[in-house]
Order: sequence, then C-alpha cells, then structure tokens
Amino acid sequence: MTGDEYQETAPERLKRIKVEIADAAKGAGRSASDVTLIAVSKTFDADAVEPVLAAGHRQFGENRVQEAERKWPGLRSKFPDVTLHLIGPLQSNKVKDAVALFDAIHTIDREKIARAVAAEVASQQRRLDLFVQVNTGEEAQKAGVFPREAKAFVDFCRNDLQLTIRGLMCIPPVEEEPSVHFAFLAKLAREAGLDALSMGMSGDFEAAIALGATHVRVGSAIFGHR
Ligand SMILES: *Cc1c(COP(=O)(O)O)cnc(C)c1O
Repeated sequence: MTGDEYQETAPERLKRIKVEIADAAKGAGRSASDVTLIAVSKTFDADAVEPVLAAGHRQFGENRVQEAERKWPGLRSKFPDVTLHLIGPLQSNKVKDAVALFDAIHTIDREKIARAVAAEVASQQRRLDLFVQVNTGEEAQKAGVFPREAKAFVDFCRNDLQLTIRGLMCIPPVEEEPSVHFAFLAKLAREAGLDALSMGMSGDFEAAIALGATHVRVGSAIFGHR
C-alpha cells in the first residue's frame, strides 16, 4: 500500500470501488446498475459514516441489530432515504426490532427465524427484501441452510409462510477459493427460481460480480480496517 492510499478518505475509497464495480460488471457483460453496493459500516460510528452519506451513498449494511439501533435513527433523520441491510445473524428476540429498522435482511437461515420474520412483516405491514443465507461450505460454525436444503427452504418460506424471498446470500469459507462458492450459490438460486445474489466482500467483490452478484457487501475497503 502506498502513502497516497493510506491518505484516502472513505468517500474517495467509495468512489474508486464504484469504478471497480462498474468495470467488473462491464467485463461480465452486465450493467453496473444491476449491482447494489452495500457499504458495510459495522463497528464504525455515525461520525465515520456521515461523510459517505454526504457523498450520496444510500445503501448500508450492519451486522448487529443493537448497534444499528444506536447508530441509524440519528443518521436517518438527516438522510431519510437510506436503505439499511442486515447482514449478520438474527436472533428470535431481535426480529421485531430488525423488521422495524431494516429494509433488507440477508440472513434468513432457519425455520424459526423465517416464521418470526413472516409474523412481524405481516403485523408491521413492512415490505423487506429477504435473502436466505446458504452455508455453501457446510462449515459447522457458520450460519445458513445447507445447499441441499436451499430450494426446499425457499419453497417453505414462499408457500407455507407467504414470505417473498428475493435471493440467496453466502459467506465463503476463508481458506477456499471464493469463486467456487459464488458459482455454486448462483446455481442454487437458479434452481430455486431466484435472481438476487448477495455475495462478494472487500477482497472478492469483482469475482462475485463476474458470477452474477446483485448485492456486494463491502466494508473495510471503504471504511478502513476494523
Ligand atoms: C463484515 C461483513 C462484510 C464486509 O466485509 P469486508 O471484508 O470488510 O468487506 C460482508 N458481509 C458480511 C456478512 C460481514 O459480516
């Protein structure tokens, strides 16, 4: 890393990443407007996030409901058109708050959570973009439905819960080639009749876009090291 890069501000890094996303989309014969850049602001406080909002960005991701509840109501009063994505694990006792605060949840990963989200979406009359998280690497410690269960789980959400699922989400195992997992997630989504793919982070969003990502979740490349 050069000294100049070290000096870059978050809005400058954001601008550069948008160019990289547009190039990756173009290289894959896709339109840049088909890729939503979610700026992952977890662990960064409102003061660090505000310049990125002031630069015009409106899609943000958080991984903890409580942290987002502290940070975002204040920021939203200044920037009401923000879209907030929950990208971290959701516990049952936080579903009500999450459905009230977030516009999208990327981590529907089990029947109990799907049922709770369906009940809250109905009672709060909210319309959220929902993604089913798939544990593509079948890692013991990782959340998500197993790949072989993905289609049945999506069908259960649709048919039994009347829950509209937009797409699938994955976090590839750190030690493996991410492209293998991105291609696998894209295949599972096709089989389940879904076209949205939440995949790709700071280190691999270009590879994810080449394989069809519609939502990339980029944190440290914009906000810096956590
Ligand atoms: C933190 C996080 C990201 C962003 O990771 P970076 O490597 O900082 O870009 C993306 N997705 C999820 C689920 C995360 O928890």
